[in-house]
Amino acid sequence: MMSDINRNTIPEIYGNSRNLTLIRAMRHNHRLPHACLFYGETGSGRKTLAEYFAMTALCTSDHAPCSECRNCRKILHKSHPDLIFPEHSGKKQGFSVETVRNVCQDALTAPNDSDLKIYLFTDCDNISIPAQNTLLKLTEEPPEHVLLLFTAQTKSVFLETMLSRMMQIAVNPCSWKDCETALLSRGISPTDAGNAVHACGGNIGKALQWLADEDMQTLTRHVTDFTNAVFTRKHYEILRILHDYEKDRQKALEFLRLVSLQFRDAMIFKYYPNLNQNPDQNSMLAGCDRDSARALSTIFTASRAIQLQDAVRDACTAIHANVSTKLALAAFGGRLLF
Ligand SMILES: [Zn+2]
Repeated sequence: MMSDINRNTIPEIYGNSRNLTLIRAMRHNHRLPHACLFYGETGSGRKTLAEYFAMTALCTSDHAPCSECRNCRKILHKSHPDLIFPEHSGKKQGFSVETVRNVCQDALTAPNDSDLKIYLFTDCDNISIPAQNTLLKLTEEPPEHVLLLFTAQTKSVFLETMLSRMMQIAVNPCSWKDCETALLSRGISPTDAGNAVHACGGNIGKALQWLADEDMQTLTRHVTDFTNAVFTRKHYEILRILHDYEKDRQKALEFLRLVSLQFRDAMIFKYYPNLNQNPDQNSMLAGCDRDSARALSTIFTASRAIQLQDAVRDACTAIHANVSTKLALAAFGGRLLF
């Protein structure tokens, strides 16, 4: 996990030391793959790691990436003509067949400024099958001077034939402490950094988004209050919070998703009561507030936990099936009130 490349020095990179060592070793041994996929959750720094890969590949120093040679500097200034970002398009922000065809055509011509031409396809989560089929030949038999990089949340968006030609690198979120350090280094106040890390764990990208998005902060607060209300059986409070989501289907679904993670964490706390609350030691926890999940765990039984998860699942299913959000949430609230 790391910060964006937006300065004149290589950004501090957190939580992926093994990946960095691997990339540098491949470059040192002149064994760079022709295609590579960086996959991991959004905000975990896939694109930054891919850019680091590109810089390492293009750097002319023996100690790549050096940040000082012409190629490194151009990449840091986002002006390297041989690091190309194919454009997203369409409602789903995939890549059009036309864009991919242009890439295949362009790949046949020699690099402008260096030994390699690198195409970085970011956020491939909605890359279509036709677009992949158009890319297939280039991925299978790229010219010597071509390097294809991809980022996505999961590998599963790619055809098996594509995957078999790519090196696959899992990008890891970093520790809480590293995430906090990264936020502080960007001038974020210790209080805000602490809150963001508490809500987002070791995902720097998510933490930055959370800090910039008041709706996200409100949502997290509501989920925490809701978990506490379930713990203390404050029925009125449960209904009051649900009421806030009656009018927005998408927000209601997101709220329910986060609540489900809280219930899940409460179950984990129940069976691992000594679990350290810091996911640096244990990454099983996924909810946005550990304290309320831990409190809830003290009154949880296995059957109650299953009931609550069933209630969340039924509410989501109903909303997806176009049952009115208000009704689905009212039914959900009802099942929490006994
Ligand atoms: Zn360099």
